[in-house]
Amino acid sequence: KFEALLLTKTETGQAVAWTELSDADLMPGDVTVRVTHSTVNYKDGLAITGKAPVVRRWPMVPGIDFAGVVETSSHPDFTPGDEVVLNGWGTGETHLGGYAQLSRVKGDWLVPLPAELSRADAMAIGTAGYTAMLCVLALEAHGVTPDKGPVLVTGASGGVGSVAAALLSKLGFTVHASTGRPEEEAYLKSLGASEIVARQELSAPGKPLGRERWAGAVDSVGSHTLANVLAQTKYGGTVAACGLAQGLDLPASVAPFILRGVTLAGIDSVMAPKAKRLEAWARLAQDLDRAKLAALTTTHSWKDAVTLAEDILAGKVRGRVVLEVA
Ligand code: NAP
Repeated sequence: KFEALLLTKTETGQAVAWTELSDADLMPGDVTVRVTHSTVNYKDGLAITGKAPVVRRWPMVPGIDFAGVVETSSHPDFTPGDEVVLNGWGTGETHLGGYAQLSRVKGDWLVPLPAELSRADAMAIGTAGYTAMLCVLALEAHGVTPDKGPVLVTGASGGVGSVAAALLSKLGFTVHASTGRPEEEAYLKSLGASEIVARQELSAPGKPLGRERWAGAVDSVGSHTLANVLAQTKYGGTVAACGLAQGLDLPASVAPFILRGVTLAGIDSVMAPKAKRLEAWARLAQDLDRAKLAALTTTHSWKDAVTLAEDILAGKVRGRVVLEVA
């Protein structure tokens, strides 16, 4: 028997409750993991509150990621005692997720925990931080280097944004941070941002082209913000788009693409191939300043997951949250 947070479908929507499950509830897979840490991503907020149709199998244990220790394995790459990280692949959506003491998954989904990171570090990074690294890798792949000019991070006080700001500053970039929380200026500067851009400057409908301000950007916001960021990206620059905190729409024009050769790089973490994940986690172990990671992280009991789900959708969570699974 083990404990889990269970989402069930009801006539009026969905219900959430702490429940005891048994081995028979575990889903097919060749590795069983004792989960020790999870986290709260924006998508977990959407799943737990039911604000968007993230869950596609009922009942569901939410939690799109976890870190833990292998209990049993018939997968050649994993043996009992191995420390592992899982991000995405449908966990918390179609496969029982991280808010459970036990999880059975496909070994092919698991990434061995880099030796430099603890399981708590891995969830302080979480899917948000791993996605931030995928964005940084995309900027690098498209030739965005510190000498090309400043880079912008939108939704900077959030999980993706905070980790992206810390990574880019460590890599030598001049980082501009866009936020709707002016009170977080000192926090964002401590992560390495040199300039704060007010959220309202980017969130309203804008012109097809504007002043060339940034050589690249990591955007977790979408909608008008992404359109305005594209319009203000320097000639030949790249914007890595990974999120929809403002909206799923993209009310933009082709002007930045056809007149300035701007690249819009789409970033998906859920189905990213294993090689990309290994690269991202190796780079996180190498390029993420541990003091900054600690500064952007708060730790909670996993029993706070439901409250934190509401908080993250309300834009009240700063940086990243680690959940300690009892
Ligand atoms: P988060 O911690 O809630 O960060 C989102 C941030 O966006 C907020 O902290 C806030 O930053 C800003 N924001 C919120 N509402 C906004 C609005 N209406 N208009 C403009 N800005 C707003 O969430 P997260 O876990 O970092 O995820 C960020 C986004 O990336 C989400 O949309 C998530 O679904 C997406 N994501 C995608 C992938 C992928 O695979 N593509 C992976 C992970 C996350 P400020 O307060 O600083 O303005």
